Formats: sequence, structure tokens, C-alpha cells
Amino acid sequence: MKTLTLPKARLDFLVSVLQQFGEIHGPVAQGDRFVFRRLRRWSDARLDYTRTILPLKKYFLPPRERLFRYRRGEGYVADTTDLERRIVLFGVHACDIYGLNILDQVFGGRYPDPYYQTRRRQVAVVGIDCTPDEHCFCRSMRADVVTRGFDLFLQDLGDRYLTFVGTALGDDMVLATEGLFQPVTRDDVEDYKRRSADRERMFRLEAEIRDLPEIFEMEYGSRLWDELGERCLGCGACSMVCPTCYCFDVADEVALGSTDGARDRVWDSCLFASHAAVSGGENFRASRASRIKFRFYHKQRGFVAEYGRPSCVGCGRCLDVCPAGIDMVEIIAGLREVDHAAAQ
Ligand code: SF4
Ligand code: SF4
Repeated sequence: MKTLTLPKARLDFLVSVLQQFGEIHGPVAQGDRFVFRRLRRWSDARLDYTRTILPLKKYFLPPRERLFRYRRGEGYVADTTDLERRIVLFGVHACDIYGLNILDQVFGGRYPDPYYQTRRRQVAVVGIDCTPDEHCFCRSMRADVVTRGFDLFLQDLGDRYLTFVGTALGDDMVLATEGLFQPVTRDDVEDYKRRSADRERMFRLEAEIRDLPEIFEMEYGSRLWDELGERCLGCGACSMVCPTCYCFDVADEVALGSTDGARDRVWDSCLFASHAAVSGGENFRASRASRIKFRFYHKQRGFVAEYGRPSCVGCGRCLDVCPAGIDMVEIIAGLREVDHAAAQ
């Protein structure tokens, strides 16, 4: 991967050049939180942000989107509004890029999703490094350093950024700046290694994922799931903010007596009571305990079986929003604890 440096004082110039690649979207403050949205002014960008309320999936799998309209006798017409909008997502953290890589696997795999893929092709990603806070455990989930899924990635070295060029589009971005980027020096390499080691020491949360799928497998009947079921409110907030939760519902909108209508896709959550309800009144996961167990199993065991890694990237959003204080790291630690009573 090509590596260059960029003077920090020229970041605004880089962003002005990147406008030819699409609308610039980046992190901005919203009260005491942060959101990703279009930057009208570069001065609005908050590159010191921790995490945004919603992850980047909102760009590729919007909370609600119209898939198509239909009329009896005429078939259907796909809704392509905004599908071809060119966007540069500027200032994306490594864990969120991992989240996107995971969604790419899901929506580009066995059942490729044309809506997702069309949007994804139009969006460039410029990553930036970050400082972990008390809810970050991306290092434990092996998502603290990213090697693909971005066009450029900026590593802060004080007065400059070490810049990884990840794609041919990233190369085009560098070329478009006409000499802004410089070759890497020995000092840059030493500074990078020092900062990388410093950052490593900043993580306060740890989750041990070694043999975790096997432990999940064996702890399917653990009383921990019932305890969590008692605490969980079934609000679904954890799924909504999760960069790798992608469940959706499909809803038809048809006026009574009408011959035309539309089909929408709407975010859903496996924590909702209705999620596994089917016609005839059957609900395959009627209890909250079974639903929360499903969510954790899907993230830490089922996804590993299918894609070779957990789908949790340790972004800390679910820890941040859960009104019941349900915490992925605590649950992993709880499942790892030896039950001495059972061992006797
Ligand atoms: S499960 Fe929680 S910590 Fe893991 S990726 Fe989803 S929101 Fe982030
Ligand atoms: S945010 Fe917490 S309370 Fe709400 S569904 Fe998720 S685990 Fe349950």
C-alpha cells in the first residue's frame, strides 16, 4: 500500500480538492453527540469526535427507503432517487470502515443487493485515526487497524498525517492535489510507530474473543440469557446504532381499493417482539431472553461460522445507548467465567 505524508495545515486544501469526487460529508457536533452529515463549511467538521450516533450504514441502507412503485397491469418501477449521489465520507474511524466491509460481504454475497451496491459504488471513504474512550473495544475485536475499505486513511502524526492510499481512486485523489503529499521519511516512520504504541495503551476495555464461538456454543443454556431477558426492554436501540446490524422489514403501502402502491424497506431489529412473528400467531422468539440471546449469538458465533469473523467491531455504540446498561464486553466476560458451583 502506498504511504505518503500530508501537512496538517493543508487539510482544508485537500478537502476543497476532494469536492470534485463528491459531496463532502463528515462528523459534526449535534448537542453533546456527533453525527455524519454534509459539510457546508469545513469549519463545521469535528475530527476529534468519538463516535457518531448512527453509523455509516445510514448512507447505504437508509432507515427507510422506497424500493419501487407498482401499478396493476403495468408492473413495477424501481425507485432510484439518490442512488447515484456521489459522496466523500471524510473522517471515518477504523471500526466503522470494518463495519462497512462487513456490510459489503452481506449485501454483495449470496444475495447481492442492487440498491446497496449502487450506493456503495458512488461513495469514497477517507479514514482517520481516533482516540479510544471508555466504551471502545475495537482492539479486542481486531478492528482498531484497518487495511482495506478506504480510499485514503490519515494517521495523525502531530503536524502532519501519514496517509495510506488504499485504492486507485485514492491515487486519483492524491494526483488531483498536485504535489500536496510528500514521500515518507525515517522520522515519519518512527513517529508512526511511537503513536501506534501510545494508542494501544489507551484502550481501557478488553474482551477476549479467543474460542468465543465455542464457548457460546456450549453456553446456549446459560442462565445469563434469562437474566439479560429480564433486563432488556426490547427497545431495539442497540440494533439501530450498530454498524453491522442490517435486519430490515419490507412493507407494502397500498391504498384501500387501489390498484397501485409502493414497497418500502425499513430498519428492523431482532430485539423487537414482532421480529420472529409469522402468520398463524406463531413467534419463534417470543421471549426477550430468546431475542437477546439470538442477537449475541449472531454477532459472536453465527457470523464467525459464515464469514470467518465476528460481526461486532467493538465501536461501543450499543454500550452507549442501552437504557438497561447491557454491555457486550461484560457479557463476554460473564460467559467466560467458570461456574464453580456447576464444576463441583
Ligand atoms: S454490537 Fe455494539 S459494539 Fe459491537 S459493533 Fe454493534 S454497536 Fe458496536
Ligand atoms: S438497547 Fe438494551 S434494552 Fe434496548 S433492546 Fe438493546 S439490549 Fe435491550
